[in-house]
Amino acid sequence: MGHQSLYRRYRSQTFAEIKGQPVVTNALRTAVAEGRHGHAYLFSGPRGTGKTSTARVLAKALNCENPTNGEPDGTCDSCRDIEAGRSFDLHELDAASNNKVDDIRELINRVALGSPGRTKVYILDEVHMLSSGAENALLKTLEEPPEHVVFVLATTEPQKVVPTIRSRTQHFRFQLLPAAELEEHVRWVIADAGLDVDDDGIAWALKTGGGSARDTLSALDLVVASGGAPDTATTGADLCRAIADRDPAAAIAAMQRGLEAGSEPRIIGEDMLGELRSAFLASMQAPLTHLNDAAADRAAQLAAALGPATITRSLEKIGEALVEVRQAPDPRVPIEVALLQLARAEGDDTAALLQRIEALESKVAELSSKAPPSAAAPGAAPPPAAPPPRRRRQPAEGARGAMAGAEEASKPVPKRSAPPAEPSRPPDEQPVSPPTGGGELTLGNVEARLPDILQGLTQQVRARFRQGRPTRVENGTVTFAYPNQLPADRASQVKGELEVAMSAHFNTSVQVDVVVDPSRPDAPRRSSTPPAPPASESEDDIGPVSELQDAEDSSNTMVERLTAAFPGAKLIDPPTNT
Ligand SMILES: [Zn+2]
Repeated sequence: MGHQSLYRRYRSQTFAEIKGQPVVTNALRTAVAEGRHGHAYLFSGPRGTGKTSTARVLAKALNCENPTNGEPDGTCDSCRDIEAGRSFDLHELDAASNNKVDDIRELINRVALGSPGRTKVYILDEVHMLSSGAENALLKTLEEPPEHVVFVLATTEPQKVVPTIRSRTQHFRFQLLPAAELEEHVRWVIADAGLDVDDDGIAWALKTGGGSARDTLSALDLVVASGGAPDTATTGADLCRAIADRDPAAAIAAMQRGLEAGSEPRIIGEDMLGELRSAFLASMQAPLTHLNDAAADRAAQLAAALGPATITRSLEKIGEALVEVRQAPDPRVPIEVALLQLARAEGDDTAALLQRIEALESKVAELSSKAPPSAAAPGAAPPPAAPPPRRRRQPAEGARGAMAGAEEASKPVPKRSAPPAEPSRPPDEQPVSPPTGGGELTLGNVEARLPDILQGLTQQVRARFRQGRPTRVENGTVTFAYPNQLPADRASQVKGELEVAMSAHFNTSVQVDVVVDPSRPDAPRRSSTPPAPPASESEDDIGPVSELQDAEDSSNTMVERLTAAFPGAKLIDPPTNT
């Protein structure tokens, strides 16, 4: 028998064995014992708290040949088939990778095929990742579930599950495990498996696991494999220091050391998040009683080195990267990209603005040397740098062509809206599949359907894309125009979610491109720019992270931010009229 992870070996097999969720397990056990279980459950809670383990126990209990008070016996054929993963009564679907309408349709077709006397349990993990089309298909089934079927929808983010689905389920909330209970479990596992782990190793596993039984046992595996607690205690602190020093090379080197010490990218990111959060609390003069002296000192130093605005931004960036890590083919990449963006100051703080000003200066210089003023005038031929037009350009598009040409001409400028890892579609390439169903992918249809498509997405995505305007649909790419850089950047950060939703809606692969188009009629006029606040205010006015919200308007323009960064600076019209 090969090596089996501690998590698999000690996975809970009965309701009684599931750790730290007495409310959930007691309710389910009683319901099974009394034969009044529901047909649709929503299990929500942090990862590794027992959601799918509980669903598996439920499947066993419902099909067990000799159950006792709602608990499965674990010895009958049905129980052993489910434990071995070869039962036809338990189906697990990861909604994160099977989020299309067709995936759900296929599942529903299987639901219709019941076997008498059996209860089929369908687990949909990460159900909040379903496309809106797939959600609608699932909803139809949840409205009238067949008698022999139980759905368990599991999610780490219940607020992203649409209310129409939530309201048709019994919602059970799973909690992180109390530290004492988890430690007791870890010590029991160590004794039962005859492992040799000292107190340092146990403490490291508990800290790394962060209240998740699965992550704690995975960390314990690592302690056992490496003969002690891996030396990663300083990785998060080193990474934060590299950001404070604006030293990308040091950041990547620290990341590499952490990986070589055996830490997963996720663990490194979470370690860093912990350091940043402590620094944030320190900067707010909040008590740091949960930290030891060394960690409290680090937090105070980091708070002084970074400042509240950069800490908040770093928390946001690393937090977003940790979400992406779950689905990235290489989980190192999202963390490393975020680290580079932070260490290179590709942000909204003063250092980042200085960097962007330099980029803008070189762009303006190239623009004025390549595009004489007459080239961008309405009705004139497109400038030589722009790609050859396939049809007659509108005047506004001529101006945009000049912008695009300038961008192509200045390759070293970091372009956040198009990461280098993403393959760009050549202009003449045909879409992978012709648009069918859900309407053809045309500008008119996009404009007409956009409000409905956005309605199925998160508040953040809705707010950011309502500020833009679809201006062009070509070769499967929908272009959104924004009056200035900040809202464009923000939309770009979440465009993946809109791409998934649009692809599902139009039944074809859709890419979203975000461009800045100052020729938009509602772009703010320079002369009417309101007076900008002094630069120091933006640092001091940051409230608690939980109260930060996305700006709904675009009043905080690039121009205002530049003015804020350079009090007393005067705006001078650029030489060309682009
Ligand atoms: Zn059984």
